[in-house]
Amino acid sequence: MKVTTIGTGYVGLVTGACLAEMGNHVVCLDTNSDKIRILNEGEIPIHEPGLAEVVRRNVASGRLQFTTNVDAAVDHGTILFIAVGTPPGEDGSADMQYVQAAARSIGARMTDYKLVVDKSTVPVGTADAVRNAIEGELARRGVALEFSVVSNPEFLKEGAAVEDFMKPDRIIVGSDDERATLLMRALYSPFNRNRDRLVVMDLRSAELTKYAANAMLATRISFMNEMALLAEQVGADIEWVRRGIGSDPRIGHDFLYSGAGYGGSCFPKDVKALIRTAEAAGSGMRVLRAVDEANERQKLVLVDKVVQRFGDDLRGRHFALWGLAFKPNTDDLREAPSRVVIAELLRRGATICAYDPVAMAEAQKALAGLEGLGYAASANAALEGADALVIVTEWKEFRTPDFEFIKSALKQPVVFDGRNLYEPPLMQALGIEHWGIGRGTRA
Ligand code: NAD
Repeated sequence: MKVTTIGTGYVGLVTGACLAEMGNHVVCLDTNSDKIRILNEGEIPIHEPGLAEVVRRNVASGRLQFTTNVDAAVDHGTILFIAVGTPPGEDGSADMQYVQAAARSIGARMTDYKLVVDKSTVPVGTADAVRNAIEGELARRGVALEFSVVSNPEFLKEGAAVEDFMKPDRIIVGSDDERATLLMRALYSPFNRNRDRLVVMDLRSAELTKYAANAMLATRISFMNEMALLAEQVGADIEWVRRGIGSDPRIGHDFLYSGAGYGGSCFPKDVKALIRTAEAAGSGMRVLRAVDEANERQKLVLVDKVVQRFGDDLRGRHFALWGLAFKPNTDDLREAPSRVVIAELLRRGATICAYDPVAMAEAQKALAGLEGLGYAASANAALEGADALVIVTEWKEFRTPDFEFIKSALKQPVVFDGRNLYEPPLMQALGIEHWGIGRGTRA
């Protein structure tokens, strides 16, 4: 099939590459000419495990192309994925300007039937808005052409995006159009072979499903973070509590980790956008408001511990910071807790030497100009002469570090473990002062 992705970011690029891998002919369009140039030079502008191989293989076979040419891209695809960003607007609601622009660019150019697929995470009612935008353009041109709009929200996780796209838990299709549903079924059939993962529903339910999924996951995290705070106050260890509750199949073990707060390009913005949707619909959304508020607070918890240990005035203090990306296996720093931790430590006069296995280049762009923030070439190099180590992201290479080196490199062996990577008894035995999240009275 002929497919176009409008937007070649984490979602559009992965979607395009994985569909090309199954034999489709895919054109990926983006307005960002730097991104397209990098892709056309054979490089991948984002860090995503396994993506480079899939992209290179399909570019070589001629099934995957990148362009900034809107005419050619719209003309190419019978199936057009809208995979542009939906960042938070000033009031927290999703900013729909990019989706609207993409829809208009389709209506302004199409000359035959198109199936338009809303892949971006978009508020309920967006399929209608996209349809209206395309119809408006067709009316302006004075042409009558058939097209369908479906909702197909994406559930991939950054850091495992290719794997998730290739082996989806479910494929949600919101559609009120039989022709479109059949095309979507055919497009996804290679990903849907050993059991039927396609869940076809009405458009609005599909749109809400994506927000509900992210809101539920964010709720689990904020719930566990509040439990961790309580655990500290009452002298319990959240890691035991996590194991204890996770073994109930109604709860399950996944996504129960307390830490330094959730970040990334999805949970914070989607929770806020859902709250705004609910407000507009006259619904309270009390639980989600609390989830959001708890998370904002949680991003400060590591700083609170540093202040408890070293005092509020951190002038003259120097910290090693491990982990800048909002989670492991990505270079994405959007809404990363590290940004809050860094800003708060610097504000109190501290200096920081940071290290991240893949997000350093992104960090140097995103955090440019922050006085007092430097970078090290390795985790160990970041430690030299620091008063303490602050861990914000749970990269695998931080899980079993050389503890003796940590002890020797730091001025005093103090570790603020924002992801509960280390067990308190081991730290005690090693003579390292360990500040975890929710790990008993002096966690
Ligand atoms: P991104 O910022 O990485 O990529 C979006 C791309 O769209 C950018 O490269 C931008 O230049 C391009 N763009 C904007 N307007 C355009 C236009 N009119 N024509 C062509 N290109 C245009 O965003 P992303 O992380 O890929 O997210 C895209 C959407 O998917 C969002 O709604 C997001 O919430 C959702 N989503 C993201 C993830 C994720 O893990 N990143 C997962 C599921 C869903």
